[in-house]
Amino acid sequence: MMFGRKRVLVTGGAGFLGSFLCERLLADGHDVLCVDNYFTGSRDNILHLLDDQRFEVIRHDVTFPLYIEVDEIYNLACPASPIHYQFDPVQTVKTSVHGAINMLGLAKRTKAKIFQASTSEVYGDPTVHPQTETYWGNVNPVGPRACYDEGKRCAETLFFDYHRQFQLNIRVARIFNTYGPRMHPRDGRVVSNFIIQALQNQPITIYGDGRQTRSFCYVDDLIEGFVRLMGAPDDVTGPVNLGNPGEFTIRELAEIVVEMTGSRSEIVSRPLPQDDPMQRRPDISRAKQVLDWEPKVPLRDGLSRTIAYFDGLLRRHGTVEALAAAPR
Ligand code: NAD
Ligand code: UDP
Ligand code: UDP
Repeated sequence: MMFGRKRVLVTGGAGFLGSFLCERLLADGHDVLCVDNYFTGSRDNILHLLDDQRFEVIRHDVTFPLYIEVDEIYNLACPASPIHYQFDPVQTVKTSVHGAINMLGLAKRTKAKIFQASTSEVYGDPTVHPQTETYWGNVNPVGPRACYDEGKRCAETLFFDYHRQFQLNIRVARIFNTYGPRMHPRDGRVVSNFIIQALQNQPITIYGDGRQTRSFCYVDDLIEGFVRLMGAPDDVTGPVNLGNPGEFTIRELAEIVVEMTGSRSEIVSRPLPQDDPMQRRPDISRAKQVLDWEPKVPLRDGLSRTIAYFDGLLRRHGTVEALAAAPR
């Protein structure tokens, strides 16, 4: 057996981030077990990995117990976009909370190291800018985003309680907005929406006045951060912010996408969703210090790769509606 080769479980492995993580772990020589219920993920995302003898897939919902033998667990299972996590909010809470309990129980029994994909949403609509890990956040516990925000906050609590109570080896990453190929074309996130709208010369929908900000990390940079966090010394539990500190208004993003696609789209305004955070930018000092990590891919480079991906999809399927109807 190769030195350092591990059996690694990736929950949510057929999703956007999960599929890139599975690919990376296989490239690093590990055996990878992908668990997904295909709520927002798709077999298309992992089709290219199926021929690899070291890759295994189980259709399973993490809200139910799972008894397998593993060395490491990356817990990514959870819908990530507002449209998808608000579609069935109770299931979103169950996925975050029961899913975390089951994966922590599995880690406890197998003595596996366990990573949690947490989120910048734990900071809510932040009153501290940029956000540091020591900031406790500003979350509305009863609003439409709460199923996701509070679910993820409770999962963090569970991770730290299992760590203190049962000495579990935990890693908690707070992920800021990440984009790239294989984002779900209809999950309503801003980067995929704007690119698909621009490529079809349809109106670019800015919610509110477009002055709200986000910081966009390219997927390759993020996955490198995941692997470094998992490989860091055992006292590095996190939480660690992972994201790109470059901050853009949503209007700026719209203008860049229109320019890069050479689109004839006009920019239109739509109502701002309730509790939409006004500003977001990670302070990544901790990640720099403990992981020697920082993003390398500038926004325009990442966008051009993402535009090429969606352009390819649209050329194959015609429209986004046909794409959505196609078997995935
Ligand atoms: P995604 O929707 O593409 O992936 C989530 C995956 O989890 C999908 O494959 C989905 O089918 C699966 N899933 C959902 N519920 C499940 C359940 N109950 N059992 C098993 N599988 C289930 O989203 P993503 O962007 O790849 O996000 C992955 C993780 O990273 C999520 O936990 C998300 O909260 C977190 N995250 C992502 C971002 C981002 O910008 N992409 C930012 C912060 C946090
Ligand atoms: N669990 C699991 N796989 C395992 C071990 C546990 O899915 O290999 C689940 C199990 O359903 C349990 C949960 O994880 O309810 C939490 O496990 P823990 O050992 O912490 O709790 P207990 O079993 O004592 O309730
Ligand atoms: N947004 C927008 N138009 C869209 C989709 C999103 O203006 O078509 C805005 C949204 O209101 C938010 C930002 O873009 O202010 C990021 O939205 P996304 O859903 O991608 O992520 P999140 O709000 O979870 O950071």
